[in-house]
Amino acid sequence: MTKSKKLPDWDLSEYYKGIDDEQIDKDLKLYAQKAKKFAKDYRGKVAKLSADEFLKSLKDLEKLSVLAEKLSGFAYLNMVTQMQNTKASALYQRISESLTEAAKDLLFFSLEYNALSDAQVTSLLADKRISFYQPYLKRVRKFKPYELKEDIEKTLLEKDITSGSAWVRYYEEFMARLTYEVDGKKYNDAEISKLSLSKDAKLREKAGKEINRVSKENSFTVSYIYNMIIKDKAVEDEKRGFKTPMSARNLAEEVSDKTVDVLAETVRDNYKDIAWRFYKIKAKLLGVKKIKYWDRNAPLPFESDKTYSWDETVKIVLDAYKSFSPKLYDVAKEFFSHNWIDVAPKTGKRSGAFCSGPLVTEHPFLLLNFVGKRNDVLTLAHELGHGCHHQLRRKNGILNETTRMTTEEVASVFGEMLVFQSMLNNAKDKKEKISLLAMKVNDMINTAIRQIAFHFFETRAHAERKSGELSAERLNEIWLEEMKASLGPSVEVDNNSAAIWEQVGHFFFLPFYVYAYSFADCVVNSLYWLKLSGKVKNFEDKYLKLLSQTAIGDYKEIFKPFGLNPEKREFWQGGLNLIKYYLVQLEELCKGGNF
Ligand SMILES: [Zn+2]
Repeated sequence: MTKSKKLPDWDLSEYYKGIDDEQIDKDLKLYAQKAKKFAKDYRGKVAKLSADEFLKSLKDLEKLSVLAEKLSGFAYLNMVTQMQNTKASALYQRISESLTEAAKDLLFFSLEYNALSDAQVTSLLADKRISFYQPYLKRVRKFKPYELKEDIEKTLLEKDITSGSAWVRYYEEFMARLTYEVDGKKYNDAEISKLSLSKDAKLREKAGKEINRVSKENSFTVSYIYNMIIKDKAVEDEKRGFKTPMSARNLAEEVSDKTVDVLAETVRDNYKDIAWRFYKIKAKLLGVKKIKYWDRNAPLPFESDKTYSWDETVKIVLDAYKSFSPKLYDVAKEFFSHNWIDVAPKTGKRSGAFCSGPLVTEHPFLLLNFVGKRNDVLTLAHELGHGCHHQLRRKNGILNETTRMTTEEVASVFGEMLVFQSMLNNAKDKKEKISLLAMKVNDMINTAIRQIAFHFFETRAHAERKSGELSAERLNEIWLEEMKASLGPSVEVDNNSAAIWEQVGHFFFLPFYVYAYSFADCVVNSLYWLKLSGKVKNFEDKYLKLLSQTAIGDYKEIFKPFGLNPEKREFWQGGLNLIKYYLVQLEELCKGGNF
């Protein structure tokens, strides 16, 4: 890629001009005032509000949410590109604290709403203007059985900033400050994980060993943080009466515990037939008997070193989107005519990639750490999927919209699939096809299967934490067991890599999120399979409609137009079969080959 050309940065000035923008404090003040006024207007009165007054209260709440999201969203995005700038993290913290403080004045509303009888709720929802907010109101009521008295809710909220949230923040800042050293050169976590994807086996080994060393060195601290996070969650879960550690998450996502268990079990039953089989062939392709743990994602020796410029990447991704759906393309291309993407890696910038919209009613921003590898092309396809998904649901309004993880990854993974298929179609020779298929199956395993191994790790960690703190050694042990079971005999899982779990951020900031990757991947695989089969009429329109409804429709209902039912074991197996379909193609191409 051309180093001289400056890659685009995002421009957050549509929210605030910078850390010192005076409007920030004005808005914080305004939020507090409005929250107080809201309490004055409606506290103790929700049961007596007329339909007009109730509607007005929702609109007031909506305005408050806009202000809060704008402030915290800006502070967050402003911080993630400069994690070492203490002024930026202090601003984020100050805003979170002020908003939390002021939001205490709003707590009564959902409690009073939940105290309404079902008949009162039905009568309010009979008003068309109010029924627009049904997804939000339904969501509020869903938590009714788990709500605590107002003073306890207030205390929990207040204490969160120095308990659960504090540990998450400490974890994030701690990890961002870690430095890794290879051949006398220092790297941050994003840079070192890129080294693990190098074609140079020696370099991968050095990076792998360095990651092992750093994880081991920090085992005590990170295990301590993890124990605190799990316990903090358990205390709250118990007070609220959640049955299992993942119940709260599943309730929020409107998925039953059973559905998730069926998914996890079905995936585990496929470890051998998909993951083990794949690593066996990958070992052959790498010319080794057993793959080193850090080499699971290694590129193949004959893979071309091709790098992609930013412009090329954008073209490949947009063309693939366009060939599937001109409507989706129209949504996607907007991201490149504005400063909505922060492209290049920088010192102190958060690693990885994400899409985040301070306001659901406005466009989102994408964060990348683009270095021009083939994987970066797919990462753009992925995050752009999130971006388009966000754009398609703006009209649902800030109260109705929420992040439902089970469907949150559909658009992103589907976007990746489109770009992969176009790359495979354009592959010139057998070796390129092999390398693409190997990469894809590798990635699909990382998403659909490996995340379930992660899921079993966290399920066990939370379960064991009930009888006391887990030592770093015990956490490492569980990790190794899950890794060995999922990776199989062709991958060398040794004790040195036992503390790598520390790097899975989701364990810390979003417990029980990891299965969502597998959930979404299997859903997408099924959808994609249907698209290939051509069996569903008007697939494009149905798909776009699905995306616009992921937060407001029942998750079982929204898949109905495709004839899919996520409650059935066959549904998950169907998704996994697509991986097998690519794996078989790979095995065929490798037959008799001397690699
Ligand atoms: Zn994603």
